[in-house]
Amino acid sequence: MQNNINEIDELVKLISKLPGLGPKSAKRIILKLINNRDELIKPILNSLTNVLKNVSRCQLCGTLKSNSSGCNNCENFPKKYNKICVVENIADQWSIENSSIYQGYFHILGGTLSSSNGFKKEDLLITSLVEIVKKYSIEEVIIATSATVEGQTTAYYIQDSLRDINVKISKLAQGLPVGGEIESLDDGTLHSAFKNRAQIGND
Ligand SMILES: [Zn+2]
Repeated sequence: MQNNINEIDELVKLISKLPGLGPKSAKRIILKLINNRDELIKPILNSLTNVLKNVSRCQLCGTLKSNSSGCNNCENFPKKYNKICVVENIADQWSIENSSIYQGYFHILGGTLSSSNGFKKEDLLITSLVEIVKKYSIEEVIIATSATVEGQTTAYYIQDSLRDINVKISKLAQGLPVGGEIESLDDGTLHSAFKNRAQIGND
């Protein structure tokens, strides 16, 4: 499909930036949208506007929350939970929740420490993690970062940031495939990685 309609070219460029979509699938999506203005374009516009206005990251734990209500993750904490599962991003939180291996409080860093993607310590929610652990009697911090160089560097930095606090720190089992990102793991692998997690510091 070759066209010279600027509006469509612009949209193809934008939609191609979405995960798993290239220009070809972007064009198919756009044709579907154009052919269904009332059923798709209008409600999607509406829905995106609502998300833009009303959904944001919780400044304490980093998960997504609706601005009109409190953060679901923080709401039950620390009354109900005494463990914290630290993940890189919200997709990882969703994968772990879906696998039902862990029900509890999550802390979402928002990325990993890396020289290549430019994330620095200040960009990740590590300070608020340390504050939460200090403030409440947390029994265990489970570090569930990916088995990538960045994920492991981040895990080490978190461990180091918590070294003066009396809390058990554990990391998902080595069985995690090297380079494995949490969100792409199947439930079985996640279950065994959680079950066989190893304590890495602070008794
Ligand atoms: Zn929160």
